[in-house]
Amino acid sequence: MYYYSTRDKNRNNKLTASDAILKGLARDGGLFVPDHLPSLDSSLSVDMPYGRFAATVLRPFFEGDELEGDLEEICSAAFDFPIPLNKLSNSTVLELFHGPTSAFKDFGARFLAFSMEKLLVRHDRKLCILVATSGDTGGAVAAAFHNRKNLSVKVLFPKGRVAKRQKRQLTCWDGNISSYEVEGSFDDCQKMVKDAFVDPHYSASLSSANSINLGRLLPQMVYYVYASMVYEKENGKKPVIVIPSGNVGNSTGAYWAMSMGAPIERIVLAVNANRTIPDYLESGEYRPRPSVKTLANAMDVGAPSNMERLFSLYPTYEEVKEHLSAASVSDDEIRETIRKVYTQDGYIMCPHTACGERVRERLLDGKDNVLLVSTAHPAKFETIVEPLIGTEVPLPPALKSLLDRPVSYKEIPADYHRLFD
Ligand SMILES: *Cc1c(COP(=O)(O)O)cnc(C)c1O
Repeated sequence: MYYYSTRDKNRNNKLTASDAILKGLARDGGLFVPDHLPSLDSSLSVDMPYGRFAATVLRPFFEGDELEGDLEEICSAAFDFPIPLNKLSNSTVLELFHGPTSAFKDFGARFLAFSMEKLLVRHDRKLCILVATSGDTGGAVAAAFHNRKNLSVKVLFPKGRVAKRQKRQLTCWDGNISSYEVEGSFDDCQKMVKDAFVDPHYSASLSSANSINLGRLLPQMVYYVYASMVYEKENGKKPVIVIPSGNVGNSTGAYWAMSMGAPIERIVLAVNANRTIPDYLESGEYRPRPSVKTLANAMDVGAPSNMERLFSLYPTYEEVKEHLSAASVSDDEIRETIRKVYTQDGYIMCPHTACGERVRERLLDGKDNVLLVSTAHPAKFETIVEPLIGTEVPLPPALKSLLDRPVSYKEIPADYHRLFD
């Protein structure tokens, strides 16, 4: 199996999975996609341990790659937490938040970290990962890369712009993880990373772990294969999957899973007030734009980067229209939905998951086969959720143990040289 950049229309430059993972972004600025989507292996069974299940789904994507024989070991180590399906009165919730940082990004970040570690140790190489973060991504990456051999991470976050609990998750590390509070905005942090990447003094030993990395996308396909198979087995029908979406990396995983033959009836995207995708589906004109701030802040994306991968899967507007549905949810609707679900089911949703539930209610009410994806634990967004439901959200044990760790970070001006002092 080889990978091509979405912008390499004549497919001149092919890479193996490992090369694509270590590289991150293609040199032409595009995103890596596989040369074809294979069919699911007929031996696949949800009774397998999840590590073996994941390795079986992923094996064809690593055919001929040096990680092919390591997949089961990597997957068993990376996915060592449960993936429950939880039945509510109107839907089944797929809870993707049982990893160390209580959000679905743990799947991608951990698979990437364990894969990179394997490759670097084997080739006696070292890499430093730079991450600029305004919240969730930095925490998941730091947690996943902590104590991984031959890897170090520098996390940059803007002073005064990240929530208190988020800041603790960015700064509770030691060893190979360093955190930097930058006197500047998130854009300044991103610029520092970009500047460091093009400085020949540092660039050779630097890499990124951002959400467009193939190593983060592939594992996000696996849980859709798994969850749809479990759902079909338990309910005798295929689910319609509703996915709270921002950069659409999570949903691209679902589209790849469906294309491989996973039992999925349809995929529906829920977005917040950032309406780029629903507007495109309505008008046929794709217009990325600056993001607007919402309560579901991990989905505040106006130019969803993985759309390039979906356009490569569905090259015409007609095909996109056939496969994509999307609807936008306002902050008021997020608040209303969190309250309503708590009253109805005693279940607490994070603001992102609430977008999904609202879209289910609007587009799919009455359908009895909805699988709603929950992307984060509500305790991560307690300042929004707790006043709405009038009670405290208990912290999951993994998150509590992170928040209890001692904090350390350096305060620096917005100058990338200071990262290497
Ligand atoms: C990142 C994130 C999303 C959006 O996922 P994409 O892959 O960017 O579409 C949704 N919810 C939460 C909690 C997230 O952290």
